[in-house]
Amino acid sequence: MMAAGVAARRGHRVTLLDPNGVPGKKLRLTGKGRCNLTNDCDAETCLKNIPTNPRFLYSALSRFTPADAMAFFTELGVPLKTERGGRVFPMSDRAGDVVAALEGWLRGLGVTVMRGRVTGLIIREGAVFGVTTDRGGIPCDRVVIATGGASYPATGSTGDGYALAASAGHTVRPPMPSLVPLLSDDPCCVALQGLTLRNVALRVYNDKDIPVFSDFGELLFTHFGLSGPIVLSASAHMRGPERRWRLSIDLKPALSETKLDARLLRDFTQYRNRDFQNALSDLLHKRMVPVIIGMSGVEPERKVHSVTRTERAKLLHLLKNFPVTVAGLGPLSDAVVTAGGVAVEEIHPATMASRLTGGLYFAGEVIDTDAYTGGFNLQIAWATGHAAGSSV
Ligand SMILES: Cc1cc2nc3c(=O)[nH]c(=O)nc-3n(C[C@H](O)[C@H](O)[C@H](O)COP(=O)(O)OP(=O)(O)OC[C@H]3O[C@@H](n4cnc5c(N)ncnc54)[C@H](O)[C@@H]3O)c2cc1C
Repeated sequence: MMAAGVAARRGHRVTLLDPNGVPGKKLRLTGKGRCNLTNDCDAETCLKNIPTNPRFLYSALSRFTPADAMAFFTELGVPLKTERGGRVFPMSDRAGDVVAALEGWLRGLGVTVMRGRVTGLIIREGAVFGVTTDRGGIPCDRVVIATGGASYPATGSTGDGYALAASAGHTVRPPMPSLVPLLSDDPCCVALQGLTLRNVALRVYNDKDIPVFSDFGELLFTHFGLSGPIVLSASAHMRGPERRWRLSIDLKPALSETKLDARLLRDFTQYRNRDFQNALSDLLHKRMVPVIIGMSGVEPERKVHSVTRTERAKLLHLLKNFPVTVAGLGPLSDAVVTAGGVAVEEIHPATMASRLTGGLYFAGEVIDTDAYTGGFNLQIAWATGHAAGSSV
């Protein structure tokens, strides 16, 4: 949509094809329906939040910065607000308003929006000559492939762009899930499924036991493993097929070990004549209690006053380092973003033009870049779309 509008603004005759008939279906889902459309930060911070090929994006992100994106949407009549961590949303909290503003903009610029799925590129003598669609061929001398990744395929992003790029000779790095729930066969996930833990800290360690991620927030146990905002963020740091990962949850991140031990001691003194299984409910969610007790090695019916200092130390360690084994990342279809895609070495970073085929351009998630949560993925889409639209 960005590429189409910017190209039309420069006087080109533009047709936007989307199998959905209307563009922006995924955009409507973003930010839980609120659309975290960019991040109010400088280009440097933006690049730090892009783990894959940030240098490729330097030029596009410098020419269309988060501030430019904010000005663009404000001018389109979408008032914005900035929340925690620089996340920018429409004031209305409605992603639909962002889509409607873009649709109105495209209409005003005379972009023809057509239902249609591009099935192939027509290339003659090394340059684009047209596209084939499920409704017939369309002649054209410029094509911008902005087909997104291969996640949430019901939105229309089914990965078609990869095959189109490959047909023009482009290398496509294998699409991989990022910002995705984690799979686990740890019995604790089954025992705790449906439970959301707020204000916990999550740490991820690689196979060399080096921490690769640490964040604070909300996570959810599910029948297949773990989900929730910090889990999705963690998944973006869990790349590489042969790696093994170890997760550790700090259930009480606001308390240092010393403070948590003092708190345990206080509860244990208060409940000294109770069974151990009844002594932790002030500290933990009630569903967490039997799981922690089972892992602590202390019998549930033991009286609290008989719990030894060593057993308390073990409990303390468990509360600060609750382990969950991970079997892998969730499926690509469930990922918020697709890592991998069209190799950046074959795309001009300032113009998004193919280095292999004349008249061919790329924009958005189809390119081999991806970012962490916070509005950075859409910022990549706006900036690369703007670059492509400006140079066709
Ligand atoms: C649930 C969810 C929430 C998200 N929330 C956020 C968020 O808050 N902030 C953020 O920055 N990012 C978010 N993202 C990521 C963000 O939505 C994507 O990175 C972004 O939409 C990518 O834009 P795009 O234009 O490249 O691709 P898409 O938005 O996927 O659009 C691609 C379009 O191409 C069309 N298409 C596909 N194949 C063809 C074909 N053969 N012919 C014609 N058209 C075709 C599709 O129908 C689709 O409309 C979220 C993603 C998901 C799934």
